[in-house]
Amino acid sequence: MSDTTLPFLPFARPDIGDAEIAAVTEALRSGWVTTGPKARAFEQAFTDYLGGNGLQSIAVNSATAGLHLALEALGIGPGDEVIAPTLTFTATVEVVRYLGADPVLVDVDPVTLNIDPEAIRAAITPRTKAIMPVHYGGLACDMDAILAIAREHGLKVVEDAAHALPTTWKGRLVGQLDSDVTVFSFYANKTITTGEGGMAVTRDPKLAERMRVMRLHGMSRDAFDRFTSKTPAWYYEVVAPGFKYNLTDTAAALGLVQLQRLPQFLERRQHLAARYHAQLAGLPLVLPADAPAGDVHAWHLYVVRLALGARLGRDAVIQALSDRGIGTSVHYVPLHRHPYWRDRYGLVPARFPQADAAYQAMLSLPLFTAMTDADQDRVITALHELLG
Ligand SMILES: *Cc1c(COP(=O)(O)O)cnc(C)c1O
Repeated sequence: MSDTTLPFLPFARPDIGDAEIAAVTEALRSGWVTTGPKARAFEQAFTDYLGGNGLQSIAVNSATAGLHLALEALGIGPGDEVIAPTLTFTATVEVVRYLGADPVLVDVDPVTLNIDPEAIRAAITPRTKAIMPVHYGGLACDMDAILAIAREHGLKVVEDAAHALPTTWKGRLVGQLDSDVTVFSFYANKTITTGEGGMAVTRDPKLAERMRVMRLHGMSRDAFDRFTSKTPAWYYEVVAPGFKYNLTDTAAALGLVQLQRLPQFLERRQHLAARYHAQLAGLPLVLPADAPAGDVHAWHLYVVRLALGARLGRDAVIQALSDRGIGTSVHYVPLHRHPYWRDRYGLVPARFPQADAAYQAMLSLPLFTAMTDADQDRVITALHELLG
């Protein structure tokens, strides 16, 4: 029987150590707390991590901000349509509405739970301007198919890579693929965190420049540049009504340390995913798909689905785990079930049979780098008791 006296095991928890605390303390003591040398160093380190190759990284205060900047820089506006999966967080497509354009939600592949390229093809209209694949849980979408569709129809591609650090597709890191912009998230539960933060990466210098300018009020020079360059500090030009999306130096200091730890973080996530795979294999569960041989799954999430014939339904399993002090989550209530998206676009579940069925059967098990094997054994034991 599970031990109910153990402390609550959350579904996710950030892994912040003494090195992060020292780095943030140093940033606070430096006298420069907003966007400055640390944010620049973090952008450079991120570009280097992804392997350079003409890439530019633009640090922002959330992935949501980065996705907004990406679509804005691509000129998405009223009357345009942007295709995205229904099985994602609302941030992926709320930014489409910020710009007065319309997201067109489509179904996912039943195995990977990633956007289905055939569904993308079927959703293209003369108004379609862009595709936003989401690398669900840290597993890469079929980017060959998506980029081929985009080329064929002259569409832009903005990858929501909030789960995908580090993820590879055919041996290349997400961020280095041939899309227009890729956006990562450093939210508290993502594979690295800055508290709140994100990074937009692109190889297109014009998009990079537009995103940099729009990140900070549409000003032609940011504060750090003004305070360090030879032209007078007080002079700048506003070239557009921009946003306030810059990442602070305190957050960037945290990000620099987290990025250094990413290889160990990945190893730990891979270890935990492999243990779940091995220990849950006999249960009536559909386990998450692995990356194709030779590719990297970031294992941001470990999403299982109750198989047909399981003795308990999803809600009952979540409740029973919670009763045993184990936290879980659901990724996601698909967008077509949320009142705003459902009502605005008249969406019904029957249009998204795969995402809808997956939603009703799914839960995300605890998976975070500071979790011990013993913590994980609690989850495994509880699932065996409930479903075995
Ligand atoms: C977390 C997340 C976002 C938003 O990231 P923020 O940094 O919190 O803005 C966007 N899309 C997906 C799929 C996410 O999981």
